[in-house]
Amino acid sequence: MSKRKLIVQKYGGTSVQSPERIKAVAQRIKSYVTDGFSVVVVVSAMGKTTDQLIDLADSISKSPSKREMDMLLSTGEQVTIALLAMALHEIEVDAISYTGSQIKVLTDGNFSDAKISKISTEKIERSIDDGKVVIVAGFQGIDEDENITTLGRGGSDTSAVALAAVLKSEECEIYTDVDGVYTADPRIVSEAKKLTTISYDEMLELARLGAGVLHSRSVEFAKKYGVRLHVKSSFSYEKGTILMSTEEMMEKFIVSGITAKNDEAKVTIRDIPDRPGISAKLFSDLGQSKIYVNMIVQSTGRDKLASISFTVKKNDVKKTLTICESLKNEFGASAIESKEDITILSAVGVGMLSSYGVAGKMFKILSDHQINIEMISTSEIGISCVIDSIYAELAAKILHKEFIGS
Ligand code: ADP
Ligand code: ASP
Ligand code: MG
Repeated sequence: MSKRKLIVQKYGGTSVQSPERIKAVAQRIKSYVTDGFSVVVVVSAMGKTTDQLIDLADSISKSPSKREMDMLLSTGEQVTIALLAMALHEIEVDAISYTGSQIKVLTDGNFSDAKISKISTEKIERSIDDGKVVIVAGFQGIDEDENITTLGRGGSDTSAVALAAVLKSEECEIYTDVDGVYTADPRIVSEAKKLTTISYDEMLELARLGAGVLHSRSVEFAKKYGVRLHVKSSFSYEKGTILMSTEEMMEKFIVSGITAKNDEAKVTIRDIPDRPGISAKLFSDLGQSKIYVNMIVQSTGRDKLASISFTVKKNDVKKTLTICESLKNEFGASAIESKEDITILSAVGVGMLSSYGVAGKMFKILSDHQINIEMISTSEIGISCVIDSIYAELAAKILHKEFIGS
C-alpha cells in the first residue's frame, strides 16, 4: 500500500448540509492531500435528510418493513458520496466514492441497528494506491444475504472508526458542528466547557448516556483498536478534543461530563409476587422480542408483593406494553403503567473510581431544587437518575454548575 500517511476523516450531516458546505469539505480534504496524506473520507447524509426519509416512510406506512426502511435510509449517504466526489474532481483532486456494499462492510442482519463484523480493505487500498481520495458512505453495510443494513442513528461515526481500525490509520478525525467534546451539550448548557482530552471510558459512558456527539459503538471500536479519535469542527481550523486511554490522561476529574437522555420511557408493573422466576420470565420475553432494557428497579412492598420499573427505548414502548399485558394475568399484576416524559440525567467521571459521596451530592442538588428522583442506577464512573423531563434542562444546568462550574 501507498507510503503516504493515511488519515480517515468523517463529516457529519451539518458539515455536508449544502453544496457550499460540500465544496468547503472538498477544500479541506485537498489541503490534506497537498500535505502528503492519503485520505479516506466517510460522510453522513446531507443535513436532516435521514429524518426526512423517515417522515417519507411514515407517510406511506405506520409499520414499514425494517429491511425496506434500511434500504431507504441508506440512500441519504449515497447522495453525499457522489456529490463530494464531484466537488473534489472540480478542484482537481482524484476521488472515488463507494457505498457500504461496494466495499463489503459486512454486518449482522439486525436492520436499523446492525453491527459491523468485517470490512474488506482490498478495494479501498487499491484506490489509495491509484492516488485517489476514497469516499465511503457511512451508516450502512450489508448482511450475509446482501441485504442493505444500517448501523443505528449517528452510525457514520462507527463506520469511520471501523475503517480507521482495519486500515490501521494513525488518526480518525470526526468533523462535526461543535469544535469538540464539551462537559455537557453546549446547546443546553451554555456554560459547558470544551475538553482538550477525554478518556475512551468516559466518552463511552457519556455517549451511552446521551451525549450525541459520538455514536457509542464508535468509541468502543476506538478503544478496542487503539484508534486516536479527534473530534473537531468542520467550520473552523481549531484543535478539538482527543480521545485517549485513561492512563494517558493527565487530569482525572471526578465529574467530567453531564448528560440528559430523552429517548427512553419508563414502564412499571405493579404488585407482582416477590418470588424467583418473575423477573426472569419478564426480561427474557422482552429480550426475545429484541427489546433493549436499560435501567431496572424493583421495590418490595407489603404482602410479598413487588413492583418492577424499567426503561426501554420510546420506539419500543408499544411492543413492551403488549408483552407486559400478556403476562399480567400470569403474574397477577394490579397495573401496568408507562411514562414517556422522562429524562435520564447522568454525571460521568473517571475520578469517581476513587471518590466518595458523589451520588449523595447529586441527590442533594436535585432535592434542593425539589426535583424528584424516580429511578437511580450507577456504574463505576457514572451515576444516573430518572427525573420528569420538564426538569431536564434545569437539572443539567444546576448539576453542571455544582460539579463542573460556570
Ligand atoms: P454530526 O451530524 O456531525 O454527526 P451530531 O448532531 O450527531 O453531529 O453531533 C453533534 C451535536 O452533539 C452537537 O451539535 C451538540 O449539540 C451535541 N452534543 C451533545 N452532547 C455533547 C457534548 N457533550 N459535547 C459536544 N456536543 C454535544
Ligand atoms: N445519517 C444517519 C443519521 O442521521 C447517520 C449519521 O449521520 O451518522 O443518523
Ligand atoms: Mg452524529
